[in-house]
Amino acid sequence: MPETTVPTHTLNDGTELPAIGFGTYPLRGAEGVDAVESAIRAGYRLIDTAVNYENEAEVGEAIRRSGVDRDELVVTSKLPGRHHGYDEALASIRGSLERLGLERLDLHLIHWPNPSVGRYREAWRALVTARDEGLVRSPGVSNFTEQHLEEVVADTGVTPVVNQVELHPTFPQVDMRAVHARMGVQTESWSPLGGRDALLGSDTVSRLAERHGVTAAQVVLRWHVQLGSVPLPKSATPERQRSNLDVFGFALDTDEMAALTVLAQPDGRLFGGDPRTHEEM
Ligand code: NAP
Repeated sequence: MPETTVPTHTLNDGTELPAIGFGTYPLRGAEGVDAVESAIRAGYRLIDTAVNYENEAEVGEAIRRSGVDRDELVVTSKLPGRHHGYDEALASIRGSLERLGLERLDLHLIHWPNPSVGRYREAWRALVTARDEGLVRSPGVSNFTEQHLEEVVADTGVTPVVNQVELHPTFPQVDMRAVHARMGVQTESWSPLGGRDALLGSDTVSRLAERHGVTAAQVVLRWHVQLGSVPLPKSATPERQRSNLDVFGFALDTDEMAALTVLAQPDGRLFGGDPRTHEEM
């Protein structure tokens, strides 16, 4: 039995999303299966993979080995940039399902908009079709700007359930979180520990960790939870997986939340992944 009960957010299509999930990049091979299985056994129910992580087969194997009921899990994968054409996108989703050994993805996201390719609107129409055909329960996006979101909603009348963006105290995405709140899109945070060494070792985070008797990572993950964003921490270590999930037994006050958010830097992105220019195929 998992030790931690995780609250959920209700998405704009009425489905539920756990308030924290497990990131699987770059977990691969036998060790990758072990790591994902131990995360599920620890209590993670939201699992984040992608075609480009090349570990969908490992994630599927870990799900089967965990023995957890399929319907308890929210399995997310992502469409790569090279599959943005309508027919390619539908074929890509079927490929993901085959590798995962599942009949349905719970969430499927357009991984990056790749604006120079200019086919993300086509990809979104394919995700809506995949939803209508039952291949995907809830379609969403990742790394979309306000403009990309507005375009796909205007095209289809369907609002992505989530936008998974880079988000951590050094890059708190204040503007995009306001856009999401206005449009009814749930924010998910990738790289939630923010390049960990500098952030987790910072004086501010260390002070708060000591004050609350928790780890530095728990302080940062709790900050995400209180912002209302769903963090997707990755760890290959069972002990860290458990402690990262255990962030519902303490709270940061307003000053403590603010102290973390002021760690923001003008371009606090980890590797310059600005979705207006960064491309991933
Ligand atoms: P992260 O989860 O913020 O950090 C992972 C790193 O932190 C690993 O090196 C891990 O090492 C370490 N770590 C984990 N827990 C820790 C703890 N309690 N104390 C100290 N160190 C700890 O960053 P990420 O892996 O870049 O991102 C997380 C997930 O977001 C990915 O796995 C992926 O699913 C998703 N993602 C999505 C996108 C996108 O474009 N949509 C981009 C990047 C990432 P150990 O494994 O050794 O514990």
